[in-house]
Amino acid sequence: MERVYIGLGSNLDEPNQQLRSAIDSLRQLPETTMTGVSAFYSSESLSPGQPRYTNAVAALETDLAPLVLLDSLQTIEAAQGRERKERWGPRTLDLDILLYGDQVIDIPRLKVPHYHMQARPFVLYPLAELVPNDFLLADGRALAQLLADCPFVGLERL
Ligand code: ATP
Ligand code: MG
Ligand code: MG
Repeated sequence: MERVYIGLGSNLDEPNQQLRSAIDSLRQLPETTMTGVSAFYSSESLSPGQPRYTNAVAALETDLAPLVLLDSLQTIEAAQGRERKERWGPRTLDLDILLYGDQVIDIPRLKVPHYHMQARPFVLYPLAELVPNDFLLADGRALAQLLADCPFVGLERL
C-alpha cells in the first residue's frame, strides 16, 4: 500500500457539496482506504475574477498504481461535471495527486510531487493537518519550510 495525498478543489455549483461528493467517491475507490481528510478551506482564486474555491486534502492508502489512480480521479471529476475548456478555468471539481508515497514521477500525464504545491497555501495548510510536523516530501523538501515560505494569505479555514 502507498500513502497518497489528494488535493481537492471546486469553485462552481456548490463547492462544499462538490467536495463532500468527491470524498464519498474517493472512499469507494477499489483497493483504497481513506485515512484522513483535512478541514475545508475557502481560498481566493489564482485567476482574477473567478469565484472563491473550496479546497481540502485527503489522505489515502492505496494499491492502485499512479496512472490507474489518476484515471480514477479523472472519472470522478467527469462524473461531477468537470469540463476542461480553458486551463485554470472555473471548475466543479479538481482532484490532483499531490504526493504518491515516496515516489518522484515526471511523465507528461503525471508529475508528483504536484509541480506547484509549494506556492499554494490552499494545498500546504490542509496537507499540514494530516502529517507530522517533520514531514518530508518525496524529493526531500521539508513541509515546514514550504509553509514558512508560503504565507496564509487569501485563505480561510471553514
Ligand atoms: P494545475 O495542474 O495547475 O493544478 P489543473 O489541476 O486545473 O491545473 P487539470 O486540467 O486538472 O489541471 O489537469 C491537466 C493535466 O495535468 C491532467 O490531464 C493530468 O494528466 C496532468 N497532471 C500532471 N500531474 C498531475 C498530478 N500530480 N495530478 C493530477 N493531474 C496531473
Ligand atoms: Mg489543480
Ligand atoms: Mg487537476
